[in-house]
Amino acid sequence: MQRIANVINGRVEPSKSARSAPVFNPATGEQSGELGLSTAAEIDEAVQAAKAAAPAWGAMPPLKRARFMFKFKALLEERADDLARAISSEHGKTHDDALGEVARGIEVVEFACGIPQLLKGEFSRNVGPEIDSYSDRQPLGVCAGITPFNFPAMVPMWMYPMAIACGNTFVLKPSERDPSASMLAYELFKEAGFPDGVLNIVHGDKEAVDAILDHPDIKAVSFVGSTPIAHYVYTRGTNAGKRVQALGGAKNHMIVMPDADMDKAADALMGAGYGSAGERCMAISVAVPVGEETADKLVETLAPRVRALKVGPATDPEAEMGPLVTKQHMDKVLGYIDKGVEEGADLVVDGRGLKLQGYENGYFVGGSLFDRVTPEMTIYKEEIFGPVLSVVRADSYDYAVDLINKHEYGNGTAIFTRDGDTARTFADQIEVGMVGVNVPIPVPVAYHSFGGWKRSLFGDHSIYGPEGVRFYTRLKTVTTRWPAGIAHGAVYTFPSMH
Ligand code: NAD
Repeated sequence: MQRIANVINGRVEPSKSARSAPVFNPATGEQSGELGLSTAAEIDEAVQAAKAAAPAWGAMPPLKRARFMFKFKALLEERADDLARAISSEHGKTHDDALGEVARGIEVVEFACGIPQLLKGEFSRNVGPEIDSYSDRQPLGVCAGITPFNFPAMVPMWMYPMAIACGNTFVLKPSERDPSASMLAYELFKEAGFPDGVLNIVHGDKEAVDAILDHPDIKAVSFVGSTPIAHYVYTRGTNAGKRVQALGGAKNHMIVMPDADMDKAADALMGAGYGSAGERCMAISVAVPVGEETADKLVETLAPRVRALKVGPATDPEAEMGPLVTKQHMDKVLGYIDKGVEEGADLVVDGRGLKLQGYENGYFVGGSLFDRVTPEMTIYKEEIFGPVLSVVRADSYDYAVDLINKHEYGNGTAIFTRDGDTARTFADQIEVGMVGVNVPIPVPVAYHSFGGWKRSLFGDHSIYGPEGVRFYTRLKTVTTRWPAGIAHGAVYTFPSMH
């Protein structure tokens, strides 16, 4: 069985911790690997390696740092298929979906290749007599990242390529459920020639996370995961004086207006609701048709498509959706479906009890569709993170917008309409960080930034893109007077231009 190693200062060695965690293949339910749950002492070792590497790496001209990134990007492209296989074997998503994840991760590396341009500061000549001023963005030192299971390659790449291109060194703690994609990416990182200590990977659970949050030499922490943990990480990390960005969970709604093309709206909901078995923070989990007629048409169009969803292991090229990540998670999702029925929602398609021949022990749940869900129900309020789409019927556009604005999460949302006025008003009024107009999963491209509102993001910065540069650097403004010899005498008033 594969024992997954840590990487500290270029040394690839399993943790020596007495505690360990199993890694499963979710399609078969078989254990495929094991990792040590690293101790606080091992986190400290990784931080010391990152700290020792930081001065030289931070002082290296950005153009040289970018050249390492270019090599890394080329290697990631060459090995995209292998990365996708590593993702699917532990996460369960289909191969094409995993390839899409890898492509979106590579785009961040591509953006990071432009770091010399991104770090260019601002210069003002003659802010006073013979006085010039420039501002510059400098690295923070050691940064850390803590990532979720659902994008085991892409989410770490939202973080370390940006941090490292900015001149920082990094300690990554991947999800303990699917660690292998990060390990393969590290092999390519090393092959690209980055010095040892620049990227360190330490596997673990709460003990490792707490050690990161409390470590005095870590200056900034990026976290992506569920909202309760995001809030915890933000509070504990900022209390320890760190810069923290903590991205949390979601409940993304899609409004379907009466004028929308129903066929296209249903297709969009299928992909956004059931792709990756609903285990995406940008998945649409609530459809909000406006008007009874729209709702009836939508449910009628959706139901046969949900029933026809092809569920299977990632190795099946026909599969549209794979298993859930763990047995615990599958049980949780099934529990939500039970709860929805108990609370009176109308279960139009029931994905419980799905057994696939040859994969009887896999963590499969079929696509499920609820109609007549109301805002008081648990399945509406909480994030299910599975292949379960809820339809909440709205009697007006205003009701639909109000519903979304009142939800505690504000990650993504979408509207399907052919009316420009409605679309523009929606984009303007909605209290959500990422908005799609006839686009169901509006994940910003690498040169924009990703981040939700409300309890979907704690902190002041979104992740990657220009916001990533701001998060991983601090601003310094230098004011200079040349020639230096001019005598002005002592000045006791506040410096100003009269
Ligand atoms: P999770 O919160 O369980 O785990 C995330 C990370 O936190 C993991 O590395 C894990 O080891 C660590 N962790 C777990 N419990 C902890 C604890 N008690 N103390 C300290 N650390 C702990 O999340 P997950 O189940 O891996 O991922 C799914 C969640 O992530 C969903 O809620 C999803 O919406 C969210 N997510 C959000 C975004 C976003 O950009 N907003 C992106 C992807 C996933």
